[in-house]
Amino acid sequence: MPQLSRRAFAGGIPLGLLGGSLFGGSLMAGSAAPALGATPATAGSPVSVTPLAQIRIGRFTVTALTDGYADMPYTYFPGRSPAEVEQAATAQFTARPSGVRFLFNQYLVEDGEHRILIDAGPAGSIGKTGALPEALDVLGVKRDQIDAVIVTHMHQDHMGGLIAGGKNNYPKAELYIDRRDVTHWTDPAKRNGAPDYLQTSFRMADDVVRLYPKLQAIDGERDIVRGVSIVDLTGHTPGHIGVRIEDGGQSLIMVSDMVFPVVHPGATDVFFVFEQDQAAAKAMRDRFFPLAAAEGALIAATHMPFPGLGRIVKDRGEMRWQVADWALQD
Ligand SMILES: [Zn+2]
Repeated sequence: MPQLSRRAFAGGIPLGLLGGSLFGGSLMAGSAAPALGATPATAGSPVSVTPLAQIRIGRFTVTALTDGYADMPYTYFPGRSPAEVEQAATAQFTARPSGVRFLFNQYLVEDGEHRILIDAGPAGSIGKTGALPEALDVLGVKRDQIDAVIVTHMHQDHMGGLIAGGKNNYPKAELYIDRRDVTHWTDPAKRNGAPDYLQTSFRMADDVVRLYPKLQAIDGERDIVRGVSIVDLTGHTPGHIGVRIEDGGQSLIMVSDMVFPVVHPGATDVFFVFEQDQAAAKAMRDRFFPLAAAEGALIAATHMPFPGLGRIVKDRGEMRWQVADWALQD
């Protein structure tokens, strides 16, 4: 088993230069299923299992999956100094020498009729990622059984897995992406003016549009199927969207990059380096955090610790993330 660096995100290395083959099987080495290559337990080598988490939302089963993780250097959070971000991480017992750990969570939504995947992960283009295919294998879901993929925005960590070996990786799926993102990320002028670390996303966006003739550009909030609808969360990118899953009086909102670990939701004037329009990103969080807190909305967030399920709660005047209790809740 290859020894992978624990510092996949060494300080200052542009994101676009990382990845490719960083996922070599040890992230979630093997799985619960021996047929998939689980490593027998030996002393000093704990068994790794593929993390999966399932909740019920009315008639829907929502399964949290993860493509892996990357550590984001403390310098990647404009609005706060690296020392302030590190201090916040220390206070939350999550400080790592290599930065703030970002998970890359995806969500599979099933109702017996439809199989909808929300986001596709970075697929090895960032950090220790590329585990989504294995997670789907463990679930027994084949890529050609996915009816639809909703991509919350066209950053590489949300769409990398749409393509494998230069080919469409979800051949039967309708692909849903907000039109504002499709327009932005396929615009050569925008690409030319963008920093190096966003070039991978621009390149991937071109490939995705070319390889997915069933791409449906989304204009505004709408249903995808009954009970699954788009929520406009413009700000992180122009066409950043969330997905609301609602049935039988229960609901879950997948908010994608609305909330980042350590820095959110305690403040809205702190950003991630990928955010090109900070005023818009702040407006998104100023609008949504209080709303989510008032509603007590159950949230799924891409980069929060697995399975990314929680709530934004107001606690003595401060917003904080409250992890949701998801197991054995029936
Ligand atoms: Zn992201």
